[in-house]
Amino acid sequence: MNRARENRVSPATLPPPEWWPEAAQALLLAQGYAELPEEPTPNPEPLDGLIRLILAQQNTWAVAQRQWEALRAAYPRWELALVAEPETLKRCCGLLGADWPGPNRAPSGAYCTNWPSGEASLRWLQRLDDAQARAELEALPGVGRRSASLLLLFHLARPAAAVDGNIERVLWRLEVVPPTWPAAKQEQWLEGVLPLDTAYRAAFHRAGVRHGREVCTRRSPDCPSCVLNRWCPSAELFMAAGPPAVETD
Ligand code: SF4
Repeated sequence: MNRARENRVSPATLPPPEWWPEAAQALLLAQGYAELPEEPTPNPEPLDGLIRLILAQQNTWAVAQRQWEALRAAYPRWELALVAEPETLKRCCGLLGADWPGPNRAPSGAYCTNWPSGEASLRWLQRLDDAQARAELEALPGVGRRSASLLLLFHLARPAAAVDGNIERVLWRLEVVPPTWPAAKQEQWLEGVLPLDTAYRAAFHRAGVRHGREVCTRRSPDCPSCVLNRWCPSAELFMAAGPPAVETD
């Protein structure tokens, strides 16, 4: 490896700015987390969480919720859904083909065929340590680092850090990570700088997502009313551009 590459900063070697803890606290307070909520409790069946997550990645929350309810009603046991034809699953959800995640991302037979019992379940993940559970999740079809992090945090109650497009945008604008870092690297960085506390990390995730949706929006961030503006190097730039326009998407 050449020397320049060896010296590149990594998520493990980039310290947070000194104002980071105060800014993170301001974000939590602004989003209603004066007190941390109770720690997430493990989902008795993490496969439920995974299927909901896969649906939600492809659709709005409302559509994903309808799909979930239709699937659950038609297939009280996932084993039946996992061996069903994708077309049957689509019809069951009452959706057009384009709305369905597709055979490669839909709950597929791969989720149960590797298990000796043939039972469609991810309960066994609960017995693994955090690193093992992540590795097993990321080995599942259609599950990347972000999905694995969300599953770990909200369905296995592990202290994972998860970054969606909203958090990714806020971290870039705050310039706490290099602009070249994708969400996966940002997530590794957050793993190192957030307190190792599941309740804190769950609250931080929710607060960050809401902040990105409601305040630090993609096209028209509302910097004047943002609680992070005193630390944010991007605020001046956006404020010089004038008042925020109404976002159309
Ligand atoms: Fe986003 Fe503006 Fe807040 Fe910075 S000050 S985090 S750009 S809304």
